[in-house]
Amino acid sequence: MLVLKFGGTSVADQAAITRLTDIVRAARDNQPIVVVSALGGVTDGLLGAAAQAAVGDAAGATAHVRQLHERHLEVAGVIADSATRVGVEASLAEMFDELASILSALSVIKEVSPRSLDAIAATGELASSRIVAAALSAQGLPSAWIDARQVMVTSAEHTAAIPDLEETRAPLVPVVSALVAAGTIPVIGGFVGATAAGVTTTLGRGGSDYSAAIVGACLGASEIQIWTDVDGMLTADPRLVPDAQLVPELSFDEASELAYFGAKVLHPATILPAVAHGIPVRILNSSKPEGRGTLINATRSAAGRPLTAIASKRRVTVVDVASTRMLMAHGFLHKLFGVFERHATSVDVVTTSEVSVSLTVDDTRRLPEILAELGEFSDVTRQDNMAVLCAVGEGIQGDALFVSQLLMALSPVSIRMLSQAAERRNITVVIPDVELPAALSRLHDAFFRSATL
Ligand code: ASP
Ligand code: MG
Repeated sequence: MLVLKFGGTSVADQAAITRLTDIVRAARDNQPIVVVSALGGVTDGLLGAAAQAAVGDAAGATAHVRQLHERHLEVAGVIADSATRVGVEASLAEMFDELASILSALSVIKEVSPRSLDAIAATGELASSRIVAAALSAQGLPSAWIDARQVMVTSAEHTAAIPDLEETRAPLVPVVSALVAAGTIPVIGGFVGATAAGVTTTLGRGGSDYSAAIVGACLGASEIQIWTDVDGMLTADPRLVPDAQLVPELSFDEASELAYFGAKVLHPATILPAVAHGIPVRILNSSKPEGRGTLINATRSAAGRPLTAIASKRRVTVVDVASTRMLMAHGFLHKLFGVFERHATSVDVVTTSEVSVSLTVDDTRRLPEILAELGEFSDVTRQDNMAVLCAVGEGIQGDALFVSQLLMALSPVSIRMLSQAAERRNITVVIPDVELPAALSRLHDAFFRSATL
């Protein structure tokens, strides 16, 4: 079995659904299971309508729903068979009517609870999956819609519910197996689930990847394909390095390092259930289905070139905290990070010496208060307009010359911080932001230019 997950841009309009149909057709001999996101932009639209209801703007929310309903009808026009299309139009009418009445009720009380928000947001994937199932069937690919609320069992943390693999396996596997055995393609909306008691939940923004991973893990799929609007993971940010190349293969840990630094193709935590079950995840471009994409596996052989990709994060702030009291004292780091914790500000890169700590933050909204508190027990300085450059690769640990080659390639840049974590899967440097584009290009040239993939 093969799980094919299509993101919002890959189901955004009739043309996208036609491409999806071709992709599913090409996979039909591999027992495909289709997981879809809401049509691109629809989740934002639904949450926008909920926000209108929350301030009592009933008319605004209703107009918003009408517009979303029309968009779905337009896209449903892709369903080639008119009897099938009429059926889908009827279920869309039912869904959007129900949504409109929920929203007008909520705009009277001017309050939208997380539980209501989930009922509203779930409409996107419930609607898109119905359209896709019908569109595939009408193109000669017999498909059946599965109601995600009947099979994806989650915790009750509304808007960030966590699927339970075992609880999901029980209802999901028999339904899917029966369909697949009959040569029918199961189609299920991502992002949506329900508690054991049957209350609708959602898995958090971008949660359709999470659904695909859970479905794949429950069924022991041979591969999960994430069809999106980029070719895969690249060796560097293409806006800064125009000749960035596609990375053919990544380990899960490498993917996590890269995602953290802004290569936001997917959120690694969402595919962990698949990777932990040894199921490879492949990122593919639905507009260029002939590409090979990027394959993510639990582990990757460290053979070959040391570096897999270079991630970067621009305009971060470095905070230096120095205190002679730190000398041979215990508890100082605890006290220091406690300040950041109280202000809910996450710290990215950290380097320490015996009497000072340097760290980077990218969300500086609370920094004035943080610096004031730190100033009560240490000398603090702040430096804005810095950038993080992170060289990632499983091969780094086995290459004794790597660090010197990296520093050679970087020079003459002035390095503000340098860190290599215990796993030695990455080397991170912090440099002035103005120097980032040139430094990144030099590094990319040094490690990737003549490399053949
Ligand atoms: N539609 C949801 C979102 O936009 C889930 C997803 O697309 O993965 O966040
Ligand atoms: Mg999305």
